[in-house]
Amino acid sequence: MQMKRIFWAWAAMLTLAWAGATWMGWNSPPDVPGALWWQMRRHGIYLTGVWSMGMMSLIMLLALRQPWQERWVGGMDQVYRLHKWAGMAAGATAVMHWALKEYTGGWIKTAWGTGGKPVRDAVLAWATDWRGLGKDVGEWAFYALVVFIVLTLWQKLLPYKPWRKLHRAMPVLYLALALHTVALTPLTLWAAPMGPLLAVLLLIGSGAAVWSLAGRVGQARSYAARIESVRLLGSQPGIAPLEVLCALPAHWPGHRAGQFVFARFDAEEGHHPFTIASAPDACGRAADGAALVRLVIKPLGDYTRHLHQRLQPGQTLRIEGPYGHFDGRGAPARQQVWIAGGVGVTPFIALLEARQSAAVADGLAPVAMHYCTRDAAQDGLLPRLQALVASARPPVVLTVHDAAQQQFLSPQDLLRYGSALDIWLCGPAGLGRAVREQARQQRGWHMHQEAFQMR
Ligand SMILES: Cc1cc2nc3c(=O)[nH]c(=O)nc-3n(C[C@H](O)[C@H](O)[C@H](O)COP(=O)(O)OP(=O)(O)OC[C@H]3O[C@@H](n4cnc5c(N)ncnc54)[C@H](O)[C@@H]3O)c2cc1C
Repeated sequence: MQMKRIFWAWAAMLTLAWAGATWMGWNSPPDVPGALWWQMRRHGIYLTGVWSMGMMSLIMLLALRQPWQERWVGGMDQVYRLHKWAGMAAGATAVMHWALKEYTGGWIKTAWGTGGKPVRDAVLAWATDWRGLGKDVGEWAFYALVVFIVLTLWQKLLPYKPWRKLHRAMPVLYLALALHTVALTPLTLWAAPMGPLLAVLLLIGSGAAVWSLAGRVGQARSYAARIESVRLLGSQPGIAPLEVLCALPAHWPGHRAGQFVFARFDAEEGHHPFTIASAPDACGRAADGAALVRLVIKPLGDYTRHLHQRLQPGQTLRIEGPYGHFDGRGAPARQQVWIAGGVGVTPFIALLEARQSAAVADGLAPVAMHYCTRDAAQDGLLPRLQALVASARPPVVLTVHDAAQQQFLSPQDLLRYGSALDIWLCGPAGLGRAVREQARQQRGWHMHQEAFQMR
């Protein structure tokens, strides 16, 4: 997968650049007991520092949400995954860096003494006086980074909203670690190829951090929009999904079926990601000619549960996007399988609407679709889904799995479609894991999953 390849290529680039600079500046350890261990400790500290800062720089770059990143990694959800992987790698290598510095010196001293300990490396002349400050700032930033990573992974400790606010402090942490890096990186590592690479990474990362702190991320793709209509898809407010038609300004670039946007209904709350549950032009235009797109919002949390009371026609909102590469297409030789769970059906509604005209049938293949719902009798989206499936071209065959009737999708059910599949899945994490597990055992199954998760 593209995301993993980029991650490992980035790690390899950092390692090779470090190895090149270390090899060129290599001084054989003196023939004194423990000298080799002191040398290994020193280079271990440098390598883990390079890894950690290189990954932190990648994190800052990816936080910019640029369209070229989507093309590079294969969709915004993959950009977020790479961002998270880089975050975990930065944290793990920062812990190694800290542990090497804090503990190994004492062990080597106890075992061999300090006879082989190298003298302190020279740093950049203009940064010599920053050593103490760089050390202190780096240490505190490291503790903050570890706490943040624990809170990211252990989701029960902190709900999403406060976590998101904390996340906004990450650029400050990055700038603190950049200061630590500049103050303490030895002259030997500033030599090519590591030095120029580190300088570029620090410049890009610091620029991205400042951009982020200035609130500029996503601004170039943000549009002032208006709510055209709001409709409850069911009878129970706060339980049934809400359909929100949004009117977009003339300079809205348009979207592709399956993409999502960040919608900000009120400034204090900030934006939330929602799929555009309509094909391009499928909702027509408002009286003033504005292009209309549909959002279908399920009350899944504290904010969305009360949206039916807050949203009114005529209200303004900001829409940022569109993002994503979830296009439901695949290789002609493979059977297309779509799997939707709950509100994960929204991108498929857009993809099905894009199949309603014979004109767009070119290049599309028949599809076997599975829709998992909690209760088909109460599902406000199911009638529309069935109507769209009935007139889709090329055909889409729908199987509904109704949990209220104990009908569950088992990944083994997909074996009947053969050994060459393109699986497009959007739904709960557990469903995704189960299908992915099965897909791992089938070499010809290609899995494309829109992760409805950004933490
Ligand atoms: C790419 C993508 C597309 C989505 N499309 C749809 C859709 O079409 N319809 C729909 O109903 N839901 C969709 N969601 C889910 C939707 O964004 C969340 O249900 C909603 O943001 C929950 O907000 P809350 O404050 O009510 O919930 P909370 O109780 O605050 O949070 C519940 C969970 O929602 C997620 N979440 C909350 N706030 C945000 C945020 N600002 N940014 C990112 N994630 C957040 C977190 O994972 C959190 O754990 C999509 C999510 C993603 C990532």
